[in-house]
Amino acid sequence: MAETKFVGTPKKVTTHVNQNEDLIFEKSSAGKKAYRLAELDVPAVDAASLLGDAARTDLGVMPELSEIEIIRHFTRLSTWNYAIDLGMYPLGSCTMKYNPRVNEVVSRLEGIAEAHPYQPESLSQGVLGIMKLLSDCLVEITGMDTITLQPAAGAHGEFTGILLARAYHEAQGNARKKILIPDSAHGTNPATAAVCGYQVANLKSNAQGMVDIAELERMVDEDTAALMLTNPSTIGVFESEIHKIADILHAKGALLYMDGANMNALVGKTRPGDFGVDVMHLNLHKTFSTPHGGGGPGSGPVACKKILEPFLPKPVVVTKADGTLALDYDRPQSIGRVRMFYGNFGMFVRALAYILANGPDGLRQTTEDAVLNANYIRAKLEDTFEMQYKTRSLHEVVFSDKRQAKNGVKTGDMGKRLIDYGFHAYTVSFPMVVQGAMMIEPTESESREELDLLIDALKQIAREAEENPELVQTAPHATRLRRLDETAAARKPVLRWKPTPNGAADSSALTPDTAAKEW
Ligand SMILES: *Cc1c(COP(=O)(O)O)cnc(C)c1O
Repeated sequence: MAETKFVGTPKKVTTHVNQNEDLIFEKSSAGKKAYRLAELDVPAVDAASLLGDAARTDLGVMPELSEIEIIRHFTRLSTWNYAIDLGMYPLGSCTMKYNPRVNEVVSRLEGIAEAHPYQPESLSQGVLGIMKLLSDCLVEITGMDTITLQPAAGAHGEFTGILLARAYHEAQGNARKKILIPDSAHGTNPATAAVCGYQVANLKSNAQGMVDIAELERMVDEDTAALMLTNPSTIGVFESEIHKIADILHAKGALLYMDGANMNALVGKTRPGDFGVDVMHLNLHKTFSTPHGGGGPGSGPVACKKILEPFLPKPVVVTKADGTLALDYDRPQSIGRVRMFYGNFGMFVRALAYILANGPDGLRQTTEDAVLNANYIRAKLEDTFEMQYKTRSLHEVVFSDKRQAKNGVKTGDMGKRLIDYGFHAYTVSFPMVVQGAMMIEPTESESREELDLLIDALKQIAREAEENPELVQTAPHATRLRRLDETAAARKPVLRWKPTPNGAADSSALTPDTAAKEW
């Protein structure tokens, strides 16, 4: 990489492997194989004689390559990806922590990995025991009364939690009409309320970025089903009056839903069940170290108070009189299933391994380290970037691009520039209550050395924004692809390769325009 690409000398830079890799179909040449089979020692049967019309004769165009070509193709593609195993993801609100290898070892143990969901209960005591122990741990951590492990993501947990709230209100004779949501909320909160059939009432934050208590008192009425509140909020601030908030809601018969995606700041320190929360979700793929997307499915358990227990999704793991575990389907008030079988079981194993490996003191230490790391970044960068809310930070810190925007450099530009310095971008332009938000959550995984590299990179980017704004505005420069047209990528995605009508392998025949028409 040319020296002129940086103002100053960055300590950490990765140049992405610059390979012009064709699609696997384009690399294909007829007759190549990646395998060799032994001679048939039974009579050959043709598929049509066995399957009749159901036999598929036209297999379309399939890529034909040798084994090493396939290996190199996918290995090279893998080098284009950023990964938590390569470096830090400072994405705020996402809690991109390290996925410990011991989790993977445990989840691959034969008896666990190969358990079948239709295995009889008598042969499933071990896996039911894992679900039970994880449930007990999460109930203890949250201070709630009970839990369902079924939901497959945070947003899915919200959906499940709000369905519980609706079922509860319906059982009292009135489903109620609206859900209150602060303006700083994650986008999934209003979406969840709408999907569950509620009107969304927007609750304005006060000057500290917290719930405005007077405004809340004015808005809660007998038609309010719940308030959905993220705590700590998306600007990383603890709602210190949450007790009062719960009391105001409860006085009108409304429930307090807590978006628990940010539990990484609370585990081992304080419990939502103790400060008035009625129902909440957790993200095992955030707080409890299971992989985010790509590397594995998510998991968003929902913990709730006793009053909501009858409505939990079924089946529920129960302990029978003889001490064995069983699945209880006989739950007449249940909202039903929200996920096939019992949820993403492999994630339960990983999360439980993480909880047990850390133990209560270890989990508390994790929380303290996550908060310390965020505040270290805050202290080191407070002079470089504007902060709209000066309230004490917990696990994440939100800066604003105000100062750099004067030179035409926006949060998105600096996020992309960070890629040139070998980091994933921070969370850009969220939460929307902060102008040009730059939201950073380091998690406890990062060492002080890595944090210093990030701080160093951001300081240099701020200098570049002063001295050479165009350099930042046109970033990234060190990646295989430069800045993309994000609107076209979102509106006219080319999602699938197709052969041309004459069968030739030619992806150039598929322009974004023709792709848009076809889809
Ligand atoms: C991540 C997140 C969610 C959604 O979780 P998913 O698993 O991505 O669906 C909801 N709320 C907040 C505050 C989050 O950070």
